[in-house]
This record gives sequence, structure tokens and C-alpha cells, in this order.
Amino acid sequence: MNNNFLDFENSIKKYITPENKLYVLQRQNLSCARPIPGYNCPISLTNNGIFDASGFCFDFVDEKVDNNNVNNIYAVCPNCFCVKKRYAKLIKQTEETMETC
Ligand SMILES: [Zn+2]
Repeated sequence: MNNNFLDFENSIKKYITPENKLYVLQRQNLSCARPIPGYNCPISLTNNGIFDASGFCFDFVDEKVDNNNVNNIYAVCPNCFCVKKRYAKLIKQTEETMETC
């Protein structure tokens, strides 16, 4: 099995400090950043965007896990996080396919 995903998760935890996490959550008023145009964030439909018991994840605006500046970090609900990663993977696969043509 490919462990790249686990490495990626570990690197996120490594680079965002607890102070930055708290800052980001307060900046967003404990609500999902809704980073995907056209995707209806489930908690925005049911809970006004405020994080519920499903929790939240932190992600990077520019996808660079080593840029831990608070302006590069936002908090999203688990659904938006998964969809964003899935979209990013699809885009990457498409780019790789195009390169081999
Ligand atoms: Zn969301």
C-alpha cells in the first residue's frame, strides 16, 4: 500500500502549531471555510457552517504543507476536506495523463 497519504497527514500535524490552529478557528468563527466552489458544504446547510460533532480539519491554501503562515491555513469540515483532496487527486491524475500523451 502507498503510504504517501499518511506522510502527508503527519506533515500537516507537524507544521501547524496549536496557537495557529486556535487563531484560524477564531478568525473563521468556528465555521467551515467552504473552499470548493459549487460544492454544498453539508454543515453550511444544516448547522449554519459552524463545526459540529464531526469536527474539523486544517488545510493549506497553496497546498504547500511547509508554508505554515496563518494566512496559508484554513479550517474546513471533514466533508469539504475529503472532497477537496479528491478533486486535487483527480486534477493531478489528469495532468499526469496529459503529460504522457
Ligand atoms: Zn465544509
